[in-house]
Amino acid sequence: MGSNGSRYTPGRVLVIVAHPDDIEFGSAGTIARWVRDGAAVRYVLCTSGQVGIKDPNVSLEEAAEIREREQTAAAKVTGVDDVVYLRHQDGILENTMDLRRELVREIRRFRPEVLIAGDPTAFFVGESYINHPDHRAAAGAALDAVFPAAGMPALFRELEAEGLEAHETRKVYVTTWQQPDTWVDISETIDVKIAALKEHRSQMGDWDPTDRIRNWAAERAKGMELDYVEAYKVITLKSDEDWQRCKGYVLPGHCEEPETEQEALTGSAR
Ligand SMILES: [Zn+2]
Repeated sequence: MGSNGSRYTPGRVLVIVAHPDDIEFGSAGTIARWVRDGAAVRYVLCTSGQVGIKDPNVSLEEAAEIREREQTAAAKVTGVDDVVYLRHQDGILENTMDLRRELVREIRRFRPEVLIAGDPTAFFVGESYINHPDHRAAAGAALDAVFPAAGMPALFRELEAEGLEAHETRKVYVTTWQQPDTWVDISETIDVKIAALKEHRSQMGDWDPTDRIRNWAAERAKGMELDYVEAYKVITLKSDEDWQRCKGYVLPGHCEEPETEQEALTGSAR
């Protein structure tokens, strides 16, 4: 299972995506597993998916309400009751400095150990899909926010007025089909993932996603003696030692002093 062979469970996980249902297609199996193992998880939705309902009798406002309701229900199925809606316009999301600042705010507010985001380099998926530009924009903004911006006290200093301090996230899990290096076993939670996806009734219609989701997860598990996995590229931004000492705090006063000479040496090697 790559570098994730042990049953690693982060304490706090922030998930940033563009649309309702992105998390359920992407990482809900991993999230359900981490929640069962005790993780605190918050979702941040950049848009409310309001152009995803193709009914001329449904206004954009009504569509946003429907999709937020479905997303909140899907989160609940997965074990997550903490969902933030930033309410950008669906379909035309851009990786702007304003969006970066908003996401830095969410990172500094929640102080995650792990951030889950999409892959901003993914343009093509297989032979019949071009990745949605909103997915790329949200993914790019999330990665630009988590490193280095969220961890730089002098950047977006105005957030201090909200009581928010710089935060360095330990690891970033990028959901990717392209060059994954970490596979999370979701055999125990694939049914939760499917049930969560089905909460997006406005998107599923009469379609039952069960076979598609099982086939994708099984395909990614090929050669690993696992039934179902979700695949990631994982970037480890903080060493184990630094994470244990500082838990993401950057400014002095929060970190525990290293106790041994060995720890002191490791700590100074940053
Ligand atoms: Zn989407």
